[in-house]
Amino acid sequence: FDTRTGDVERITTKNGLPNDVVYGVLADNDGRLWMSTNKGIARYDRKTKAFRDFTVSDGLQSNEFNRYAYCKDAKGWLWFGGVNGFNYFDPHDLVEDSTAVPIRITSVYSMNKPVLFGDPGSPLSKPAYLSSGMTIPHSANMVSFSFATMEFGAPSLHRYMYKLEGFDPDWVDAGTNNSAAYTNLDPGMYTFRVRGDNRDGIWDTVGTSFRLEILPPWWRTGWLYALCALALGGMVLLYIRVQRRQKKFLERTVQERTAQLSTAKERAEKSEQVKQQFLANMSHEIRTPMNAIVGMSNALRRDAPTDPGTRERYVDAIANSSENLLGIVNEILDLSKIEAGRLEMEKVGFAPGKILEDVISVMQYRAKEKGLVLSSRVDDAVPEALIGDPTRLRQVLMNLVGNAIKFTEKGSVEVNMEVAATVSVGDAAAGEMIGLRCTVTDTGIGIAPDRLARVFDEFMQAESDHTRRFGGTGLGLTICQRLIDMQGGTIGVESEVGKGSAFIIKIPYALGVADVEIGRRSVGADDHPPLRNLRILLVEDNKLNVMVAQVELDNAIPDVRIDVAANGQLALDMLQANTYDLILMDVQMPVMDGYEATRAIRALPSIKALTPILAMTANVLQAEVQQCMDAGMDGFIPKPFKQEVLVGAIRKAVR
Ligand code: ADP
Repeated sequence: FDTRTGDVERITTKNGLPNDVVYGVLADNDGRLWMSTNKGIARYDRKTKAFRDFTVSDGLQSNEFNRYAYCKDAKGWLWFGGVNGFNYFDPHDLVEDSTAVPIRITSVYSMNKPVLFGDPGSPLSKPAYLSSGMTIPHSANMVSFSFATMEFGAPSLHRYMYKLEGFDPDWVDAGTNNSAAYTNLDPGMYTFRVRGDNRDGIWDTVGTSFRLEILPPWWRTGWLYALCALALGGMVLLYIRVQRRQKKFLERTVQERTAQLSTAKERAEKSEQVKQQFLANMSHEIRTPMNAIVGMSNALRRDAPTDPGTRERYVDAIANSSENLLGIVNEILDLSKIEAGRLEMEKVGFAPGKILEDVISVMQYRAKEKGLVLSSRVDDAVPEALIGDPTRLRQVLMNLVGNAIKFTEKGSVEVNMEVAATVSVGDAAAGEMIGLRCTVTDTGIGIAPDRLARVFDEFMQAESDHTRRFGGTGLGLTICQRLIDMQGGTIGVESEVGKGSAFIIKIPYALGVADVEIGRRSVGADDHPPLRNLRILLVEDNKLNVMVAQVELDNAIPDVRIDVAANGQLALDMLQANTYDLILMDVQMPVMDGYEATRAIRALPSIKALTPILAMTANVLQAEVQQCMDAGMDGFIPKPFKQEVLVGAIRKAVR
């Protein structure tokens, strides 16, 4: 109650009074009100309207006071009585405590467990209140602190504020709560700072601090980052290097390709010239026998010679020219096979002496025609049997002997077969090897020394008039050389103009057991019972080929019956209606080709599916032969064929 103004102010616990029951109220000389309650004494400043409580912790006899027990004496001292006696004091003595109280961190917790400095492996080297900080792993990153001001009168009344530098942006007002907790802290350096106030609300400005270092997990450690950075750097460097190398490589490739292109261009131009020369030679070579064939057959038709001698001469000319023509075509085919790398060498047993014998007997006729003596000699040291490719040996010998006869006008041609002095040793697995040397010596026109090396070149002849004078394509020796090369052998020539030449070949062969059959390749019908009374389906679209086959079959097989189908589809229809002992199948035909027809026949749901089928084709490349076999054919007769070959193949198929 303000006596001057008459104002009444109602003050309760809401305004800060410790208790609503007040026993005594005294005003001191400064106008402040002192009130005794059951919860100590409260001082009220009417100007600031602030309370300050005093309790047992300030030295009161008890927190409980009694009514009527209070007074103010003449000196201005105040007296209050309570349940344990009384307190009296000069209100002037009770000044504010302006000294701040120090604060200490009393304990540190990690993962809800106290961190004790004495524990083994403890991050604290001193008790928490003496420690300046600690370092803990990332796995222990849940941390809390307890702290206290170093004034023990009324601990529960002290207030605190704290801040974790590196985490809290501002100071946190903790009230009277004396702990702070942090969960899931990131790795890094932190400083925990805490301050407290004293009994009179004076804050300690310094406070205390605690350094907290949380180590990064291994995957965020510096060295790992460094390693990653290094790896990244390495990769970048590698990338740059690879790029550079690639660039260089590209540049080099471009250069190489450019160089290759220009040489390829030159080569193409050169090969174009060679091709032109080749075509010129070929057309000449082909036209020469063709001329004989066309001329002689015209003469035969026109004159119809009744004299058997004349007729035979005409027909012989036609036959010889045809053989010649076939030889040329075969040479070209051989060379193209060699060039394409499609020629495979056989490895079979054969008798080398027999091969030479065969070659001589075939060539004897031609030699005799020219009045030459053709002889051969096989050295005793030459083994009975060797392993290798007999066909190619025969081909080479035929070629050399053929040339020798061609380029010799009088005298002799002699072939010698012996074992080369130098034994060429092949791979160990092949067993014992010998070098077989054959020398073809003639007494012919000879070759000039400066032309010797060139005779093995494609389309090359020792003298430019040789084609005109002797015929020939200039391919024979090229083929010989390639064939011998492929077998690991050598070919050479010694010659003197006007005296003669000697061609020497040397080929390594493994020793083996002769398969005389292969050596001879004979298909003679003599040792077999004759074929008769066969029913044959001839599938062929070319009328002339049909004619040739019919004539040969009629001649070779008594009572043969031949049906002709012009394509695969017709053949299939005819096979459904009739039964045949054999089918001769052309490969390239309209409507349905030979491969397809064969597959269709093999798929028939009757016994007719097993009818033997022989391919008859002018396609003689190994791949095509294989294709015939794959389609289900039983054999292969290359066109043009000789009667013995045709009959031999039929005999084998119908057996
Ligand atoms: P072609 O005989 O078809 O012309 P070749 O390659 O077999 O082709 O021979 C090439 C050339 O080598 C012949 O044209 C000829 O000039 C020469 N030549 C080959 N063999 C003999 C030989 N025995 N005597 C003389 N010259 C030969």
